[in-house]
Amino acid sequence: MVAAADTSIQSILQAQRAFFQTGQTQSIEFRLAQLQRLQQAIVEHQAEIVEAARADLGRPEFEAYFEIASLNEVKKALKQLKRWAKPRRVLPSIEQFPACAWVRPEPLGVVLIIGPWNYPFQLMISPLVGAIAAGNCAILKPSEHAPQTAHVVAKLIRSAFEERYVAVVEGGVEVSQQLLAERFDHIFFTGGKAIGKIVMEAAAKHLTPVTLELGGKSPCLVDDDIDLDQTAKRIIWGKFINAGQTCIAPDYLLVKQAIKPTLVAALQQAIHTFYGDRPAESPDYGRIINQRHFERLQTYLSDGTTVAGGESNPQTRYIAPTLLDNVGWDDPVMQEEIFGPILPILAYDRLEDAIAQISARPKPLALYLFSRDQEKQQQVLHSTSSGGVCVNDTVMHIAVPGLPFGGVGESGMGSYHGKAGFDTFSHHKSILKRAFWLDPGWRYAPYTAKRLQLFKRIVTK
Ligand code: NAD
Repeated sequence: MVAAADTSIQSILQAQRAFFQTGQTQSIEFRLAQLQRLQQAIVEHQAEIVEAARADLGRPEFEAYFEIASLNEVKKALKQLKRWAKPRRVLPSIEQFPACAWVRPEPLGVVLIIGPWNYPFQLMISPLVGAIAAGNCAILKPSEHAPQTAHVVAKLIRSAFEERYVAVVEGGVEVSQQLLAERFDHIFFTGGKAIGKIVMEAAAKHLTPVTLELGGKSPCLVDDDIDLDQTAKRIIWGKFINAGQTCIAPDYLLVKQAIKPTLVAALQQAIHTFYGDRPAESPDYGRIINQRHFERLQTYLSDGTTVAGGESNPQTRYIAPTLLDNVGWDDPVMQEEIFGPILPILAYDRLEDAIAQISARPKPLALYLFSRDQEKQQQVLHSTSSGGVCVNDTVMHIAVPGLPFGGVGESGMGSYHGKAGFDTFSHHKSILKRAFWLDPGWRYAPYTAKRLQLFKRIVTK
């Protein structure tokens, strides 16, 4: 069984290597045509994508369209690929004269893209756009925990591309490990820290470069100089879309002590406005992916004081949008990324102390700050490190065309979206071309005193 899967992975890889060697993927016209095929396939499969997101995650249709929003990446690449792929001239210095120099982005070869279950379509397709734009062949491994979406990804990709160009290998951990045993030219992984380490270790055996899009505890700092109603709505939206299973969801709130009671009331109100009296019956609220995650999240419900939600139902894997007040840094809910619909609320008096608490922990994927005060905005921007920052909103920075998306430190390495995705899947080859018509000879032995003097002058000028 395992051997059969191994053989098929190896034969796909061989076919992709051979296809890459033909040089067909190098042509910009070819890449643009493939991006158009991808665009068309996504548009044609949208109903299936929506249905799969409902089956896998209980996603409302509106939120299923977050997956289909990966079309924006395709459109951006279609518009800008010619510019991204253009060789960039660089001025050589006098020592190389006569010469010209340039940087030529070129594809890496065959790349592997491994995805998670929380945005199971988008997190396969968006990196694939970068891989195609840069001229690579690709193998995609969607998450086994969102099986309906994995099937749709496989079907859609098969409808658009030959396997020797882009292939989907479905399966769980074993299949992922078989893929990781092979040599790729780049591995793009989205998932948790623990598996990120396994991926990096496997990649090291072949010296394969990796992009790791990981998670972490993204703090949300709330000052007292804010629009209370909008702040509450923006926090509740970012936290509870996809039932909190979003890598850049605000993980916890750090609120200026003086406004905590009013903010808590506004947050409760926003939950009510969005999901009504009984969120379990709201068509706009998702479910937890599986039993393991449901049980993990349930243990957090006994931390702090529940000021909203707290109910759960193992049959439907429902966990109410929950606010936990009076939580301490040592509580279990503050030890790991929550990745579910539970929002702990901590308080601070001095901004410096809040920043110190954030900086004492691993660098998060996102950091949110709500404050009108420009000085405080600058203070937070300059004294914290995170993959990205969004001031006075949550999550929305991921959708800005042209902003690279990625982590730093324990939240990941490398980035993508737009040109950053193209760059991630490209090698930027440096080229120097000399002419024959002049060869001053100052660098050749014998190193006479005159040549040494000239060289010293060049080096120290
Ligand atoms: P995960 O790390 O458990 O799984 C991701 C992928 O790794 C899956 O395809 C899985 O089959 C594979 N895998 C699992 N165990 C493996 C092993 N032992 N060897 C090789 N491959 C293995 O992640 P998940 O639970 O699917 O996703 C949740 C995590 O992903 C969260 O931490 C979240 O923050 C993070 N995430 C990050 C981003 C981002 O863009 N930075 C986006 C979404 C999710």
